[in-house]
Amino acid sequence: MKVNYADIVISAASKKQYPKAPIPEIALAGRSNVGKSSFINRMIQRKNLARTSSKPGKTQTLNFYIINDKFHFVDVPGYGYAKVSKKERAKWGRMMEEYFAERDQIKATALIIDIRHKPTEDDKLMYDYLKHFELPVMVIATKMDKIKKGQRHKQVKMVREVLEMEEEDTLIPFSAETGEGKDVAWRTMLSHLNM
Ligand code: GDP
Repeated sequence: MKVNYADIVISAASKKQYPKAPIPEIALAGRSNVGKSSFINRMIQRKNLARTSSKPGKTQTLNFYIINDKFHFVDVPGYGYAKVSKKERAKWGRMMEEYFAERDQIKATALIIDIRHKPTEDDKLMYDYLKHFELPVMVIATKMDKIKKGQRHKQVKMVREVLEMEEEDTLIPFSAETGEGKDVAWRTMLSHLNM
């Protein structure tokens, strides 16, 4: 897909700040530091629109990006960072619930995981959480450039198994470094967006 226009609309701290435009959305979730910003930047071909390597535990917001004036990417705050207080964790939970339970225009989600490692307990919880809202989940297995060719099949299979992915959900091998998987990811997203 050709991205002619992409920009941040708002970093929303609460529901009343969500954009009013009734356009479809894809929500992006992942563990802190997994490569979610790099995924967004590669998809929209911008070096730095989504902030990479921002400090974990920073202000938690939902970052809404507008793409080609047609749909939103919604970057939800990362999880799994150990040094987060109980209070922060509870706040994160409320923010997720407020968004996923009530935002009707979410069409699909992308869950970013690191292909090098077994999905964490938090990754599994997040997958189940997204399925609980009956949303399609594209699992983006990023950092493919970091594993050997011979390991690919085994790792992909392992991730599908550990997450107990549903048949209808796609796993997309991806690399923000090389651009692998970008076209497949766009095709899958556009089909969920009915575009
Ligand atoms: P975020 O916290 O999930 O937004 O993670 P970032 O996008 O900031 O990425 C975390 C680190 O992983 C950075 O140092 C990135 O350069 C690196 N990274 C992200 N994606 C890839 C990838 O596909 N391949 C490689 N080799 N490194 C990556």
